Amino acid sequence: MSSPNHPAGKPEAAPAANFIRNIVEADLAAGKHVQRRWAGHPGTAAEHAVAPPDPARIRTRFPPEPNGYLHFGHAKSILLNFGLARAYGGRCHLRFDDTNPEKEEQEYVDSIIDAVRWLGCSWDEGDESNLYYASDYFDWMIQFAEYLIESGHAYVDSQSAEAMRASRGTLTQPGTDSPFRNRSAAENLDLFRRMQRGEFADGAHVLRAKIDMASPNINLRDPAIYRIKHAEHHATGDRFCVYPMYTFAHPIEDALECITHSICTLEFEDQRPFYDWLLERLAEGGLLQRPLPQQIEFSRLNLTYVVLSKRKLIQLVDEKHVDGWDDPRMPTLVGARRRGYAPAGFRLFAERIGVSKSDSLIEYTVFEDAQREVMNESDERRVAVLDPLKLIIDNYPEGQFEDCPVTNHPLHPELGSRTMPFGRELWIEGEDFQEIPEKGFRRLFPGNMARLKYGYIVECTGCDKDENGKVVAVHCNYLPETKSGTPGADSVKVKGNLHWVSAAHACPAEVRLYDRLFSVPAPGGRREGDAPELERNFLDDLNPGSVRTIVAQLEPSLRDACPEQRFQFERHGYFVADRVDSRPGSPVFNRAVTLKDSWAK
Ligand code: ATP
Ligand code: MG
Repeated sequence: MSSPNHPAGKPEAAPAANFIRNIVEADLAAGKHVQRRWAGHPGTAAEHAVAPPDPARIRTRFPPEPNGYLHFGHAKSILLNFGLARAYGGRCHLRFDDTNPEKEEQEYVDSIIDAVRWLGCSWDEGDESNLYYASDYFDWMIQFAEYLIESGHAYVDSQSAEAMRASRGTLTQPGTDSPFRNRSAAENLDLFRRMQRGEFADGAHVLRAKIDMASPNINLRDPAIYRIKHAEHHATGDRFCVYPMYTFAHPIEDALECITHSICTLEFEDQRPFYDWLLERLAEGGLLQRPLPQQIEFSRLNLTYVVLSKRKLIQLVDEKHVDGWDDPRMPTLVGARRRGYAPAGFRLFAERIGVSKSDSLIEYTVFEDAQREVMNESDERRVAVLDPLKLIIDNYPEGQFEDCPVTNHPLHPELGSRTMPFGRELWIEGEDFQEIPEKGFRRLFPGNMARLKYGYIVECTGCDKDENGKVVAVHCNYLPETKSGTPGADSVKVKGNLHWVSAAHACPAEVRLYDRLFSVPAPGGRREGDAPELERNFLDDLNPGSVRTIVAQLEPSLRDACPEQRFQFERHGYFVADRVDSRPGSPVFNRAVTLKDSWAK
């Protein structure tokens, strides 16, 4: 489930106040929801009425449509809903909004379940397991639609789709009534039953709520609530050939599940009057328990350097700009997991950005900083040389090795220590040697002394070059009295410090250095100086250098890393053993994030 990293001291921010918390707290103070009863499962008013009081003080839900993989935006919604339930003694439901028969697949259901769990959220609480499928409510939805017909609140419209569109009106012009609007309840019920029996073709009729064709809110101009669709549904098969519209289904799902606070993104604000209208009618008819759920909207997450629209993510995968949904460069949660990002980093990020009603664009570095902060606390340190250059210690005996003790985490001594073998030939970073040093360079150059961290001080004596003048090995002598941790360690003062691994013991491994998938903050967005007619394509902003694969030399203890184990590679950043390609014995590492922001100006 979660990464096997040690959960040492988690830097999770204290939850800050926000407008949603204020609403919840006011509702709790007013006792708004204390009368609610809970049958132990979703149900109508009658089923809840005979049950004990709801042990959950509030109920929230995360309602994904299983038609794609979750992305960073969904993480915000998941952490908000599950976080509120946890903070206020409530429950949060995971509900698959699978009312649309055409686009949904089991593969997506499975990946959503994994992703929500990975983020540390649970729908199991006490004896409750609140994992639901909206398609289980189809019989109730039909029953409720028939109630609306019988009570004069819905009618079957037999206009063509074009005629219906034309009579809807505009923002400034009222709509006009359908010629079928005044059918009798008996006729409507007969037609709706025949729709259900499959007597008509797709589009021949629709069931509409009967509200007000002149309403200033277009969503209240007799919205469609049921349509004919002869389609196979992934859960109900061919049992139904009419399916509810999302705007009809969603409020009912909330009410059946006793949701108190139904939190969604801002684009649903205009739907709220219909949400309330529908639930009021059904509660009046005694079908739904009061108090009814309250819809609350917040602004969706937008992040620089990524795209968070399902359509664009699908395009990236289908056109093979990335290697699938779980490509570590993808802003999906499967991608994030494979990249090595920490769930706790998502939680810290979500707390930091908070929730509001105003649209905002969050800098990607805010996300990365939260990740670094969490990983700095949790991840053990290891040594890896990413650009190996041979260092030969000429005065160290050939065939001799010794152990150097190294602590696993400078902030957490309780995480213990290990040893690294030291010998005559080591791998160091290519950038740690300069034959002719630039100003301020303090590591190895002929005549200079530097410390091999955890080992000895060495004095550089020169280098070997190949026929092209490329440096292929560096030579030095070590100072035997200066081993780290011994009394003589400080007898010689040096300014440079470098990391190394023993060439005889190192584990060569594939390491993937990931960078941002897009090279501009707003992929596909307009830039200063663009001609007015210019349309940009987000694919043109792909970063051609978003992944570089190298062969690194790792300290020997990394050889047996388990998939998903993450470490800080000293000086380089945070790296995870790839959950797909890495095996103990032959590790493959992905860089999740560098130690510092390399994109800062
Ligand atoms: P997309 O718009 O990318 O296709 P969606 O909203 O259609 O995503 P759903 O499965 O309907 O995908 O979303 C489930 C929940 O996640 C909804 O409550 C939705 O409001 C929320 N959500 C989706 N995208 C974001 C986002 N960028 N920020 C916050 N919440 C989001
Ligand atoms: Mg949606």
